[in-house]
Order: sequence, then structure tokens, then C-alpha cells
Amino acid sequence: MRRCERGPAPELLARDGAELARRYVTNRLTNPAYRFQWGASRLGVVREALERMTDERCSYCDGYPIAATGEESVDHFRPKSRAEFYELVCTWTNLFLTCTACNKAKQDQWDEALLCPDDSSYAFERYFEYRFDTGELQPSASASPDDQTRASRTIEIFDLNRAGACISRRRTVKRLRGRTSDSDDDLDDLDYRYLLPLCPVKSA
Ligand SMILES: [Zn+2]
Repeated sequence: MRRCERGPAPELLARDGAELARRYVTNRLTNPAYRFQWGASRLGVVREALERMTDERCSYCDGYPIAATGEESVDHFRPKSRAEFYELVCTWTNLFLTCTACNKAKQDQWDEALLCPDDSSYAFERYFEYRFDTGELQPSASASPDDQTRASRTIEIFDLNRAGACISRRRTVKRLRGRTSDSDDDLDDLDYRYLLPLCPVKSA
């Protein structure tokens, strides 16, 4: 997970969000099978705003490209399927761009301990360590017990140590470690960008 900076809410959410949420709450309470749909034009606007926040990376694993389409690419951090969070269905700060793998792992799980990438106190190094041998993330040994619990729950809920992510992280590290100061690798397509500070550029 990499820290990101949230921009202002898209105008349509600021304008219509409260009314859309009110309708969702009413529909959901009368029909538990009711499913929220953004609608193509709204989804496009929301997704674009979320993409700007993470440079099109997954908010949780920083995977790129994110391999998620449609509704599944917008995650409700506090799940919209839980009655206590119904009213947050269109709340800008509850929405994150996600990849298919993180979205499927999380589903409607919720834990107050979950780390949030746009939290101003969040930093990868504060909570996590990267294992160069396996490509796995683990709670930082120097973190407080509370922070270690939060890191561990975050790894678990988003399944951040799934095989595909570990392989991709090892590939990213190999690429970063192969760079020298005269490399012309501009890293525009880099995934798992929290690994960048761990792999300083070698002098040519
Ligand atoms: Zn992801």
C-alpha cells in the first residue's frame, strides 16, 4: 500500500451524492437483494477522479495495470453491503480505485484496524517491511504492537501476499536493482512504487 493524496470530490458526487445515498438506503432496507449501480456516466467520472489519486494504480496493492473493469474497480472502503455503512455509498472519502484481486479478497470484510492509503499519518515504512527473498510484505519489526496488528490485518484482508503479487514485486525489485544512474528507464509504468526507496540507483 502506498500513500496517496485525495483530491476534491467530483462535482456530481458533491451535487447528487446525498440524494443517491438516500435512495440506496431506502431501497436496500425494503429489498435486501437491491444492488447499487453507479450507471456508466457516473462511474466514468468517479473512476477518473480515483485514477488521478493513485496514477491509475490499485489503491491497496499499487498493482498496475489494475485489471479491473466497471463497478468492481471502485471499492467502498467501508463496505456498502453493511447496514451501518449504507449511507456512505456515494461518500467520496469512502471510495478507492481497486484491482480485481484486492477487490475479490476484501469483499465485504471490515475491520477498524484496516490501514487507509489516503490517511495523512500513513507511510509504507511505518507499518511494513519487504522481504527480498520471498517478495512478501510483513509488519515492520520496529512498529508498535498496534501498528503491527494493523499491518497484519491489512495484509490479510487484501491478501497482499498472494502468489501473483509476490512474483510481480520480485520482478519490480529486479528491474529497480538493475538500474544505473545513466539508465533511461523512466518508470512511468512502475507498479509497487513503495519499493522504490528500497532500491537506490547504482552509479554507472
Ligand atoms: Zn490491488
